[in-house]
Amino acid sequence: MRLQSELPCLFFVADWHALTTHYDDPSVIETSTWDMLIDWLAAGVDPSQATLFIQSKVPEHAELHLLLSMATPLGWLERVPTYKDQQEKLADRDLATYGFLGYPLLQAADVLIYRASQVPVGDDQVPHIEMMREIARRFNHLYGKEKGFEVKAQEAVKKLGSKRAKLYNELRTQFQQQGSESALEQAKAMLDDAQNLSMIDRERLFGFLEGSRKLILSEPQALLTESSRLPGLDGQKMSKSYGNAIALREEKDVVAKKVRTMPTDPARVRRTDPGDPDKCPVWQFHVVYSDNATREWAAKGCRSAGIGCLECKQPVIDAIVREQEPMHERAQQYLDDPSLVRAIVADGCDHARKLAQDTMRDVREAMGLSYS
Ligand code: SF4
Repeated sequence: MRLQSELPCLFFVADWHALTTHYDDPSVIETSTWDMLIDWLAAGVDPSQATLFIQSKVPEHAELHLLLSMATPLGWLERVPTYKDQQEKLADRDLATYGFLGYPLLQAADVLIYRASQVPVGDDQVPHIEMMREIARRFNHLYGKEKGFEVKAQEAVKKLGSKRAKLYNELRTQFQQQGSESALEQAKAMLDDAQNLSMIDRERLFGFLEGSRKLILSEPQALLTESSRLPGLDGQKMSKSYGNAIALREEKDVVAKKVRTMPTDPARVRRTDPGDPDKCPVWQFHVVYSDNATREWAAKGCRSAGIGCLECKQPVIDAIVREQEPMHERAQQYLDDPSLVRAIVADGCDHARKLAQDTMRDVREAMGLSYS
């Protein structure tokens, strides 16, 4: 929510991704999609600032996925840690499919198609972002060759204006001759700020900094928040598909029941057994939801067996319920009139599609598929 007023943000429902694990029962996807969009609006995503859309309504994602798949080594996908992890966790489903293996590549297409600079993720997704960066790099290396690149890049440098052009050339030399990473970063920041450059010239100048290739796809960075991993109710990764999540608009008594039945430090068999907050998933919730005084009370009470686990969980329940109250209120208008959500998403899809088409024009051209 903070990001949406600072940067152009795109939030999309990854309904194709949902098919990778629910291909045999797609009936749940449509309802979940609308529900999730209402969740986001309820949480405060503002459609006048951010773009909300549905992945399958922007088919260019699939096209980029296909094109990227041509040059992506199989090993890159097989070594993604969540691949094996999810297969083990969702052992009741047959995930030995081509689509499931390609999941991180589709994710890469989702991000690269918008030339996104930052992706807010949980820390388990950082390896995926790292792979996206490798994919972008490989793509640029394979397809970023451009006839007369050097001349075009020099012309683009001139467009920066004499002062900036001089600085650009100095920083480029510093990076290329001395390997100065800070010079590279400074030059990239300067290009980001240069308002008068066209997209294509900007790409050329990014590529010219590091070598002689045009940067068609840009490398995104992971954007982690302080609490980048909130465990699920069982202490594992929180995920709807693992059945260990608290939804954003949960009924009060459901929140209470879910938290009350959360496992705690296994050493606390009896009320009189002292515990260790670091071994308890409830503690992670205190870290996110409680103030210092409550945290201190919980940690001290746990270690000394001064409080019981149910007592310890109550402030967490109260905080979650408090956090969700305004969300329930905001959601109501969309529940009363679903056409509001449909209209927001239709606008969002149009906007996202234009951005995606811009990138695909360059991608097709670079891969010799423009047929113009
Ligand atoms: S007292 Fe709190 S932190 Fe300690 S084990 Fe129980 S729920 Fe967890």
